[in-house]
Amino acid sequence: MRNWLQTLAYRFQRFMCGRYGVDVLSKHLNIAALVLVLLSLFVPFLYPLSLAVLAWSTFRVYSKNSYSRMRERDAYLRFIYKLRKRKNLLKSRLRDRKTHRFYKCPGCREYLRVPKGRGKVYITCPKCRYEIVRKT
Ligand SMILES: [Zn+2]
Repeated sequence: MRNWLQTLAYRFQRFMCGRYGVDVLSKHLNIAALVLVLLSLFVPFLYPLSLAVLAWSTFRVYSKNSYSRMRERDAYLRFIYKLRKRKNLLKSRLRDRKTHRFYKCPGCREYLRVPKGRGKVYITCPKCRYEIVRKT
Protein backbone atom coordinates (compact mmCIF):
# COMPACT_ATOMS: atom_id res chain seq x y z
CA MET A 1 0.00 0.00 0.00
CA ARG A 2 2.69 2.44 1.03
CA ASN A 3 4.86 1.47 -1.93
CA TRP A 4 1.94 2.07 -4.32
CA LEU A 5 1.33 5.49 -2.76
CA GLN A 6 5.02 6.39 -3.00
CA THR A 7 5.07 5.37 -6.65
CA LEU A 8 2.04 7.54 -7.35
CA ALA A 9 3.62 10.48 -5.52
CA TYR A 10 6.86 10.01 -7.45
CA ARG A 11 4.98 9.92 -10.77
CA PHE A 12 3.12 13.08 -9.85
CA GLN A 13 6.39 14.79 -8.91
CA ARG A 14 7.85 13.84 -12.29
CA PHE A 15 4.69 15.09 -14.03
CA MET A 16 4.90 18.44 -12.22
CA CYS A 17 8.59 18.87 -13.02
CA GLY A 18 9.02 22.03 -15.15
CA ARG A 19 5.43 23.10 -14.65
CA TYR A 20 4.45 26.39 -13.07
CA GLY A 21 2.47 25.15 -10.05
CA VAL A 22 0.24 27.05 -7.63
CA ASP A 23 0.64 30.76 -6.98
CA VAL A 24 -1.44 33.53 -5.44
CA LEU A 25 -3.37 34.20 -8.66
CA SER A 26 -4.42 30.58 -9.13
CA LYS A 27 -5.45 30.40 -5.46
CA HIS A 28 -7.60 33.51 -5.87
CA LEU A 29 -9.04 32.14 -9.12
CA ASN A 30 -10.04 28.95 -7.30
CA ILE A 31 -11.73 30.99 -4.58
CA ALA A 32 -13.50 33.07 -7.24
CA ALA A 33 -14.64 29.87 -9.00
CA LEU A 34 -16.01 28.51 -5.73
CA VAL A 35 -17.90 31.75 -5.05
CA LEU A 36 -19.26 31.69 -8.61
CA VAL A 37 -20.43 28.08 -8.19
CA LEU A 38 -22.25 29.04 -4.99
CA LEU A 39 -23.78 32.09 -6.69
CA SER A 40 -24.83 29.93 -9.65
CA LEU A 41 -27.33 28.23 -7.34
CA PHE A 42 -29.31 31.46 -7.54
CA VAL A 43 -28.11 32.84 -10.88
CA PRO A 44 -27.78 29.85 -13.28
CA PHE A 45 -25.86 31.60 -16.07
CA LEU A 46 -22.85 32.03 -13.73
CA TYR A 47 -22.08 28.30 -13.80
CA PRO A 48 -20.25 28.29 -17.19
CA LEU A 49 -18.28 31.33 -16.03
CA SER A 50 -17.19 29.48 -12.87
CA LEU A 51 -16.05 26.52 -15.02
CA ALA A 52 -14.08 28.89 -17.24
CA VAL A 53 -12.38 30.46 -14.21
CA LEU A 54 -11.56 27.00 -12.86
CA ALA A 55 -10.20 25.93 -16.25
CA TRP A 56 -8.00 29.03 -16.40
CA SER A 57 -6.66 28.32 -12.92
CA THR A 58 -5.94 24.68 -13.80
CA PHE A 59 -4.25 25.72 -17.05
CA ARG A 60 -2.01 28.09 -15.10
CA VAL A 61 -0.99 25.41 -12.57
CA TYR A 62 0.01 22.86 -15.25
CA SER A 63 1.50 25.34 -17.72
CA LYS A 64 5.16 24.99 -18.69
CA ASN A 65 5.46 28.62 -19.79
CA SER A 66 6.58 29.94 -16.40
CA TYR A 67 7.65 33.34 -17.72
CA SER A 68 4.15 34.20 -18.99
CA ARG A 69 2.53 32.89 -15.81
CA MET A 70 4.87 35.04 -13.69
CA ARG A 71 4.01 38.10 -15.79
CA GLU A 72 0.28 37.38 -15.25
CA ARG A 73 0.88 37.01 -11.53
CA ASP A 74 2.88 40.25 -11.36
CA ALA A 75 0.16 42.17 -13.25
CA TYR A 76 -2.41 40.77 -10.83
CA LEU A 77 -0.31 41.73 -7.80
CA ARG A 78 0.14 45.28 -9.17
CA PHE A 79 -3.64 45.51 -9.59
CA ILE A 80 -4.21 44.28 -6.02
CA TYR A 81 -1.60 46.73 -4.71
CA LYS A 82 -3.38 49.64 -6.41
CA LEU A 83 -6.73 48.55 -4.99
CA ARG A 84 -5.30 48.29 -1.47
CA LYS A 85 -3.59 51.66 -1.78
CA ARG A 86 -6.86 53.26 -2.92
CA LYS A 87 -8.76 51.57 -0.07
CA ASN A 88 -6.21 52.80 2.52
CA LEU A 89 -6.35 56.33 1.12
CA LEU A 90 -10.14 56.31 1.30
CA LYS A 91 -9.94 55.05 4.89
CA SER A 92 -7.49 57.75 5.98
CA ARG A 93 -9.48 60.47 4.16
CA LEU A 94 -12.60 59.36 6.00
CA ARG A 95 -10.78 59.15 9.36
CA ASP A 96 -9.04 62.57 9.02
CA ARG A 97 -11.80 64.47 7.21
CA LYS A 98 -12.34 66.90 10.12
CA THR A 99 -8.67 67.69 10.82
CA HIS A 100 -6.94 67.49 7.42
CA ARG A 101 -7.44 68.33 3.76
CA PHE A 102 -6.17 66.20 0.91
CA TYR A 103 -4.70 67.56 -2.30
CA LYS A 104 -3.43 65.77 -5.33
CA CYS A 105 0.07 66.72 -6.44
CA PRO A 106 -0.03 67.98 -10.05
CA GLY A 107 3.55 66.75 -10.56
CA CYS A 108 3.28 63.09 -9.56
CA ARG A 109 -0.45 62.57 -8.73
CA GLU A 110 0.40 61.59 -5.15
CA TYR A 111 -2.05 62.63 -2.43
CA LEU A 112 -0.85 65.23 0.06
CA ARG A 113 -2.36 65.51 3.55
CA VAL A 114 -2.41 69.03 5.00
CA PRO A 115 -3.84 70.15 8.38
CA LYS A 116 -7.01 72.25 8.15
CA GLY A 117 -7.40 75.84 9.35
CA ARG A 118 -3.87 77.12 8.58
CA GLY A 119 -4.93 79.64 5.92
CA LYS A 120 -2.90 79.94 2.74
CA VAL A 121 -0.03 77.42 2.77
CA TYR A 122 2.81 76.44 0.45
CA ILE A 123 2.78 72.69 0.10
CA THR A 124 5.89 70.90 -1.11
CA CYS A 125 5.36 67.35 -2.36
CA PRO A 126 7.75 65.05 -0.46
CA LYS A 127 8.00 62.74 -3.46
CA CYS A 128 8.75 65.08 -6.38
CA ARG A 129 9.38 68.46 -4.61
CA TYR A 130 6.62 70.14 -6.63
CA GLU A 131 5.27 73.22 -4.85
CA ILE A 132 1.60 74.24 -4.76
CA VAL A 133 -0.25 76.98 -2.91
CA ARG A 134 -3.60 76.12 -1.37
CA LYS A 135 -6.01 77.56 1.20
CA THR A 136 -6.70 75.08 4.01
ZN1 LIG B 1 4.53 65.16 -6.28
